[in-house]
Amino acid sequence: MGNCTMDEYSMHIGGEFTDSTGDDRIPVRNPYNGEEWASVPSGTEEDIDRAVRAANAAFESDAWAEFTQSRRRELLYDIADVVEANLEELARLETKQNGRLFTETQGQMGHVAEYFRYFGRLCEAVGSGRTNPVDGTKADLFNFTKKEPYGVVGAITPWNVPILLSAWKLAPALAAGNAFVHKPSEQTPVSALRLAELIYEETEMPDGIYNVVPGDGEVAGATLTSHSGVDKVAFTGSTAVGREVAASAGRNLSAVSVELGGKNPNVIFPSANIENAINGVMRGIFASTGQVCMAGSRVLVHEAIHDEFLDRLLDNVSAIEVGDPMDPETDIGPMAFRDQCETVKEYIGLGEEEGATIAYGGDSPEGAPSECFIEPTVLTNVDNDMQVAQEEIFGPVASVIPFEDEAEAVALANDIDYGLAAGVWTEDMRQAHRLADDIRAGTVWINQYRIIAPNVPFGGFKDSGIGRESGLEGLKEYYQTKSVYMDLSGEVTDPFAGEY
Ligand code: NAD
Repeated sequence: MGNCTMDEYSMHIGGEFTDSTGDDRIPVRNPYNGEEWASVPSGTEEDIDRAVRAANAAFESDAWAEFTQSRRRELLYDIADVVEANLEELARLETKQNGRLFTETQGQMGHVAEYFRYFGRLCEAVGSGRTNPVDGTKADLFNFTKKEPYGVVGAITPWNVPILLSAWKLAPALAAGNAFVHKPSEQTPVSALRLAELIYEETEMPDGIYNVVPGDGEVAGATLTSHSGVDKVAFTGSTAVGREVAASAGRNLSAVSVELGGKNPNVIFPSANIENAINGVMRGIFASTGQVCMAGSRVLVHEAIHDEFLDRLLDNVSAIEVGDPMDPETDIGPMAFRDQCETVKEYIGLGEEEGATIAYGGDSPEGAPSECFIEPTVLTNVDNDMQVAQEEIFGPVASVIPFEDEAEAVALANDIDYGLAAGVWTEDMRQAHRLADDIRAGTVWINQYRIIAPNVPFGGFKDSGIGRESGLEGLKEYYQTKSVYMDLSGEVTDPFAGEY
């Protein structure tokens, strides 16, 4: 099967590697050293059309009809086993594509296996509906509901956490019985193709149920989201593109979920365990070089502890090891690609123009091995109205903003278009509950930051998205409910007696 070599990949359609109808290729670079180590085809409109047709045919096939809940559960368990058996290789591919620490990508692959097992366990829940008494009608008229898959899911993912964010879609989509066409990010397409290859080699995945077509967002991505053969669009990426994707799915009246950006507040009160809060701030914005949607990029600190907190934070930041993502001693690696690093530098410059002070970092570290490195950066004298405080930078840049009291903290936390996540650091549990109520975000962590779990829903309020991933809510995004009325009376019905 296939014509996949070490570094020249093709697309994966209908259960096998397939050449693109076009000649354009996308280079894949290692951001640590700038080396180009792989290339993938830039999927055309015809390629996407082919994949969507293959998925539709597979969805309607007898082979897939045999994948009842228990067989889908076994399929998902088998995928989990495949990921675990190839954990090191997949993690290495992720690190080579986006520069995330190898320790982190190994951990991510562990999560991927957990997600497949979690949604495997939920397969049985998908088939079950309920019976509904129908009020005011004959006793022998009853109603029951069934949960049915949409059909073909078109999934589009970003570069920051490639396989895990794909698994957040693929696992529930398969659990619910859908076929799947995936367009990975143009920055990180290789791990998706290798995962498809492994799954087809080592599980009973029916041909065409899982397809991967790499390509540019504006061509392959836009074709997928506007294709009439796609029944549900699942997107993770920026808010700007998410709006386009939701509009495009809306024009087709396809179901849609979009997981988008964040500019998340991490709020520290005087009663907090300060050491723990500092670690939470570091974990929130510097780990993963700040390239996470849930990054705690706005650090809101009560004025009573602001100066001491800042001093201690800067001490810790100055100890961060920036370097080779394969080295276990490294704390933060490169940005995933040069343009993203440039964007971060532009934002830092803009912050200075707006009146912020660079309290730490702000530039490439000396002797950096490639153009993708940026120092962890702390901006002070930031006003919440500044662009650096309102826009997602998607890099290791913390904006520290003081507040006077709880009311101001809540007002600042909510004074933003985004609503993805928030952290609150306090030992006052009444205050913790108030903040959990008052902050308009899909996730609030109290005395923690950046925790996720397969059974816990994740998603955004406001401009951070529509829908939820993970948990029962995440499964619900992939099925629709059918309502069946049955009249068992055998009586002849009056044609004009209906009420609706
Ligand atoms: P992006 O929006 O630029 O691209 C995401 C994907 O969309 C890519 O695969 C891209 O090719 C595709 N795309 C681009 N234009 C398209 C179009 N017109 N039609 C269809 N598809 C198109 O985002 P990115 O830079 O890859 O990722 C970073 C963003 O993702 C950040 O904003 C981050 O916050 C967000 N993100 C959100 C979550 C979450 O769960 N909420 C998780 C991770 C990342």
